[in-house]
Amino acid sequence: MTSSVRPLVAGNWKMNGLAASLAEARRVRDALSKSGPADVMICPPATLIAELAREAANSPLLIGAQDCHAAASGAHTGDISAEMLKDAGARAVIVGHSERRSDHGERSSDVRRKAEAVHRAGLTAIVCIGETAGERRAELTLSVVGRQLAASLPDAANAGNTVIAYEPVWAIGTGLTPTAADVAAVHKFLRGALVARFGGTGGAMRILYGGSVKPDNARELMAVPDVNGALVGGASLKANDFLGIIAAYGA
Ligand code: PEP
Repeated sequence: MTSSVRPLVAGNWKMNGLAASLAEARRVRDALSKSGPADVMICPPATLIAELAREAANSPLLIGAQDCHAAASGAHTGDISAEMLKDAGARAVIVGHSERRSDHGERSSDVRRKAEAVHRAGLTAIVCIGETAGERRAELTLSVVGRQLAASLPDAANAGNTVIAYEPVWAIGTGLTPTAADVAAVHKFLRGALVARFGGTGGAMRILYGGSVKPDNARELMAVPDVNGALVGGASLKANDFLGIIAAYGA
């Protein structure tokens, strides 16, 4: 059902990157071709979005952002709105990342409001969900991600404005990954839930896998049915590693 979905490989730089780091992004940009088999995005820290968006203009490299406030503007010192991120050149915003959920106590209801803000600004929401190690051991993975998916997605989500990222918390930054069979089981479950709620557009929504994706495991993970790309943390910081992952699609 989803083999025609164009994959997305998105790099999440998290709180990493100074102006000098843009050299890595330039190397990625320069290696991409317009007819490549996957969309490629880098989500740098907010401080680098405008410069990177300028440098990526007229190239296949897409620029995204990490997190936003639910409001468009107002008295929220230190926060940033989806409208501001769009103004800086971002095309998408990662919301609900497990580091936001754990570091800032964000609940799925908060994530849903942020995703609504991203849609209001006309951007794509990359909505992250995933179970902890304890939840997996207790065989709660499907019920946890099912609940997170249902509560984090706005009713207006569709294949154009929303991407799902399944990221087991225990796999993020640890070098551990689920087996291909485990990833397949979760993505199949998520696809079913998306189709049940959103119909045809739920069948076309991209579901990324994230968590310790590296050049040497990307091909196996990206070949799993209903895996429509990757959300990549650490390995997106170095052009060679990120390009090695994109190469899983033959780019
Ligand atoms: C992430 O944090 O989104 C992520 C997938 O990190 P890593 O690739 O480093 O595990």
